[in-house]
Amino acid sequence: MYDVAVIGAGIAGIEAATQLAQMGYEVLVVEKDGRAGGHVAGWDRLFPFRRNAAGLTAEMLKMMDRGKAVNILAGTTVADVQRDGQQFRIWLSDGQGITVSAVLIATGFKLFDARRKEEYGYGIYDNVITSADLEQMFASGKPVVTKKGERPKRVAFIHCVGSRDEKVNNRHCSKVCCATAVKQACEIKQMYPDAEVYCFYMDLRMFDRHFETMYLDAQAQYGVIFVRGRLSEAAESIDGRVTVKAEDTLMGKMLKISVDMAVLMAGMEAAEETDKLAAMLKVTVGKDGFLNPADECLQSNFTREKGVFVAGACTGPKTIPETLADARAAAVSIDGYIRVGSEEKSLREEIIGKIRNKREEIRSRRSRSEE
Ligand code: SF4
Repeated sequence: MYDVAVIGAGIAGIEAATQLAQMGYEVLVVEKDGRAGGHVAGWDRLFPFRRNAAGLTAEMLKMMDRGKAVNILAGTTVADVQRDGQQFRIWLSDGQGITVSAVLIATGFKLFDARRKEEYGYGIYDNVITSADLEQMFASGKPVVTKKGERPKRVAFIHCVGSRDEKVNNRHCSKVCCATAVKQACEIKQMYPDAEVYCFYMDLRMFDRHFETMYLDAQAQYGVIFVRGRLSEAAESIDGRVTVKAEDTLMGKMLKISVDMAVLMAGMEAAEETDKLAAMLKVTVGKDGFLNPADECLQSNFTREKGVFVAGACTGPKTIPETLADARAAAVSIDGYIRVGSEEKSLREEIIGKIRNKREEIRSRRSRSEE
């Protein structure tokens, strides 16, 4: 018997489940992938201080496991949900059925499929990769090399791939990819100090604490070259290099450079199963595909459906600290909801009990007077 079902075992789901367990609730986390940790577990280093990503998720899982009140079902999805009064009956893909008082959606995001921007050649040109591919290369601990196994002498980072782009129906900014590009550009320079590294950006959104320092260090310490301009296209030359064309909007001229590797900063989109889950749990979805909270300021973890809560990037792009803070806030909201619900229930039971006692009293008084 569980109190809360958390859907998604990324960092939002893990953090919320840990907090709920510490509050004394029994929690079931349902995760579609074979392992917990979401995107962060597959990342190498995190900005701004290049903290080890796998270490962070391992630490979080250890903390969650401490209370032994959280059960994770990996490789499992939600097949159906039905409301049963104040509770939810949930059927899982493994055939199990559970009843819970509250559901937390923490399904996160999916990375934009860069193949949808055909003009950039991802999946077609050998040396066009995504930021996630590059991060995996870093995580492998091996030197980053081109498809031919050569060290890249010139690398271009392309910002806003699949974000802020009407053509792919994504108006939103994915928030974290400017900082990721700057981090990765510095890491390439650290690996290959004599490489030329470019960042092609529309505008740099280095909004958070320490981000500006990262950006200034990227220029002053590492010599990363920032070019303001959106890429129009990429083409592969016979030697496997990639020619990128962009307009430098600060200089007012077209640029065409040949690089050994182009890294596409793929943005965030709502996770695959968001629509389906939203329909099952009667949660509304925005035009951008992310879930709508009941109120983005005052009830950001509630939905319009009583007992259904949201946390993390399922309501829009977030940094890791924002996601974790959101997950903690969701746990507090769920705790309040369950406690008020049970307080209301015990108050109702108390009133019903008093009425019953009164009736009994009247009945026995009547029967005494009849005697
Ligand atoms: S964070 Fe930067 S790269 Fe990412 S979508 Fe926003 S502006 Fe573009």
